[in-house]
Amino acid sequence: MADTLLAARERMLRDHLEPRGIDDPRVLEAMRAVPRERFVPPNLAVHAYEDHPLQLGHGQTISQPYIVAATAQAAQIGPEDVVLDIGTGSGYAAAVLAHLAARVVSIERIAELSAGAGQVLRNLGYDSVELIVGDGTAGAPTRAPYDAIVCAAASDGLPDAWMEQLAPEGRIVAPLGGRTGQRLIRRRRSRDGTITDDDLGGVMFVPLVSGD
Ligand code: SAH
Repeated sequence: MADTLLAARERMLRDHLEPRGIDDPRVLEAMRAVPRERFVPPNLAVHAYEDHPLQLGHGQTISQPYIVAATAQAAQIGPEDVVLDIGTGSGYAAAVLAHLAARVVSIERIAELSAGAGQVLRNLGYDSVELIVGDGTAGAPTRAPYDAIVCAAASDGLPDAWMEQLAPEGRIVAPLGGRTGQRLIRRRRSRDGTITDDDLGGVMFVPLVSGD
C-alpha cells in the first residue's frame, strides 16, 4: 500500500506538476513528502493523487495538488519564513507549507474542519503548524509579520489586514474574483515599499466568507 501511494505521488509530480511549470525543487520535494491521502475522507483516499479538488464536507474542498504547488511556488517561501495560511480546510496545504517554511499559522472559520486538520497534522508530526479558528480576513495579528500569506478562498479584494501583517519584501498569493471567474494573484512588496501584482492565471476557489 505505502509503495503504491508513493508511486502515485511520483506520478502526480510527473504528470500534473512538472509539465505545468512546477520546477522549484523544494516545492516538488514537499509535494512528494506529504501523504495527501491522509487529508481526504477515507472513502476518497483512492482519488487522492488525481489532480482535482475533493469534497471535505461542510461544503468545502481540498484544493487540487497543482494549485497547492503553484501557490507555494509563487509565494517563494524560504526555510526561515513564517507563513500565514488562510483556509486550513483539510490541512493539506498547511503540511506542504510546513516543509518549506520555519513556521505556519493556519486559520479556518469552520471549527470542525480545523479540529480534523489538527488531528491529521499532529499524527503526522507537523509540529511547526499552529491552527487558529477564526475569520482569516483579519489575519492573525499577534503572530505577524508574515513573510508570505497564502489563501485558498476567493474574495473581491485583498483584505487590508493582510498588507498590514506582511513583512517587508513579503508575498501574498490569493485568488481574486467571484463565482464567474477568478484569477490567482501574487502581490509583492519590495524593500522600498513598491507593490507589484502578478496574474498567475485563472482558478476556481470557494469564496472567502467573512463577518460571521
Ligand atoms: N488549504 C485547504 C483548502 C480548503 S478550501 C486544503 O488544503 O484543504 C478553503 C477553506 O477556506 C475552507 O475550508 C473554508 O471554510 C475556509 N474559509 C473560507 N472563508 C474563510 C475565512 N474568512 N477565514 C478562514 N477560513 C475561511
